[in-house]
Amino acid sequence: MQNWLLKQAQINPDKTALIFAKQRWTFQQLAAEVLQTAGQIVNVAGKLPEQTRVAVLLKNNAAGYRVILALQQLGWVPLLLNWRLSNAELERQISAGQPQALIVDDSLDSLADQLQLTTTLSPIFVSRLAAEKGVSIKPIADFSADKVASIMYTSGTTGKPHGVKQTFQNHFYSAVGSAFNLGLDPAELWLCALPIFHISGLSIMMRSLIYGMGVLLVPHFSAKTTTQLLQKYPVTLMSVVPQMLQQLLAIYPANGYQRSFRGFLLGGGPIAAATLATCQQKGLPVVQSYGMTETCSQVIALNFTDATQHLGSVGKPLFPMQVRLAEQPIGEIQLKGPNLAVGYLDDTAGFLAKMTADGWFRTGDLGRYDQAGFLYICGRQDEMLISGGENVFPQEIENVYQQFSAIKEIAVIGITDRKWGQVPCAFYVSQESLTPQQLIDFGRQRLAHYKVPQKFIQLAELPRTASHKISRVKLRELYLRNYSD
Ligand code: ATP
Ligand code: MG
Repeated sequence: MQNWLLKQAQINPDKTALIFAKQRWTFQQLAAEVLQTAGQIVNVAGKLPEQTRVAVLLKNNAAGYRVILALQQLGWVPLLLNWRLSNAELERQISAGQPQALIVDDSLDSLADQLQLTTTLSPIFVSRLAAEKGVSIKPIADFSADKVASIMYTSGTTGKPHGVKQTFQNHFYSAVGSAFNLGLDPAELWLCALPIFHISGLSIMMRSLIYGMGVLLVPHFSAKTTTQLLQKYPVTLMSVVPQMLQQLLAIYPANGYQRSFRGFLLGGGPIAAATLATCQQKGLPVVQSYGMTETCSQVIALNFTDATQHLGSVGKPLFPMQVRLAEQPIGEIQLKGPNLAVGYLDDTAGFLAKMTADGWFRTGDLGRYDQAGFLYICGRQDEMLISGGENVFPQEIENVYQQFSAIKEIAVIGITDRKWGQVPCAFYVSQESLTPQQLIDFGRQRLAHYKVPQKFIQLAELPRTASHKISRVKLRELYLRNYSD
């Protein structure tokens, strides 16, 4: 594969590549600065072999953006770390990755100082790089499609996060699949408010290089600032997770966003049907998608035409990917195709164990098709509980209770029960004090009796992972510690 960044600098030199903090970079400018940064990195870290791993603790800013691209230009591999993780977890992830260097955003200096690292790995701060003169580097003309372009950890929703090795081929097909589905606006400007150390953020950067598209990079998500940006800049697309969409919707301005806005690409977790319905009422296009770190972003998605007709569905497989269900009508979603990462950094056997004998990747997520062939996510396989021989899907129960107006958030887990084997137990957040009877009555009118939670536990907030997903592991621990009989 050719050098995407340099190709864009050649064919689209004056097109906007990046906007950050009111500053704009064309592809030509960005490419020049990235190569300069690459030279500065070599000055500090030394000449290292191809595919050398460099751990990075970066924030969403222009310097962080350049560092990631510079490492790729050197043929090295950015090992992207989530600075919101605990020190112990970061230490584990760094030691598993065995990087030759660690590059750190200046604002994370106290975090970097606290990390117990091997003596050979002292943090290189981004400001130090900028002060270097930099050696001149010879850009790579061709990248092998199967070389690792990035390594990033999964969210750790189900336990210990896995480091996923993503190749240039993975990023390429991910970008192509998205463009075939959403179409490509010649003036595409994608707002990136998700962290660039997660695939939702990094995939926007990679699409930019592959499409010749502009990225409006935002340091961190705030509904107010994002709304202002959507009113000011000709943004065409923005990636969101459900919580972000809910917050944006709550302050959606009467005069809307800029006319260029094509819609939100939504993913990462389940969304309340009511939120999607409100978006529709307000004429806000939302395209749901499904994907994971292991598939380098979306692999199943709706398109703008179908999105309004199939609320709640995640759509159909994107062009490069094949999808099958292990069982009908509800079964594990299994995938095959060029988006699929080549393995886990720290657990080769764990990745192989997720492959079926005939070469499909087992996602661990459950899905079902409707008659028109649209896929609906039914939650994770290990969240499903069996109550009196019946399969119960927490997400179905959560969807129902999200319609209870006094409930702000709800998550359901299975708990052990002497009579039924397992029964559902709900944790919820509400400003009001609700009686168990009120909650049970609401469920009984809408769900089979065995699906109505047997216990309702009110919490001030639901425990979340560092990437803001509800942590069922923590809910289970909390239940066993404080609420089990
Ligand atoms: P870990 O693999 O470490 O347990 P994780 O699976 O949450 O964490 P990610 O790769 O960030 O890590 O997230 C991918 C998962 O997010 C999917 O496997 C799926 O469970 C969930 N997900 C993604 N999109 C959707 C969606 N549209 N609806 C429901 N769930 C989704
Ligand atoms: Mg996962």
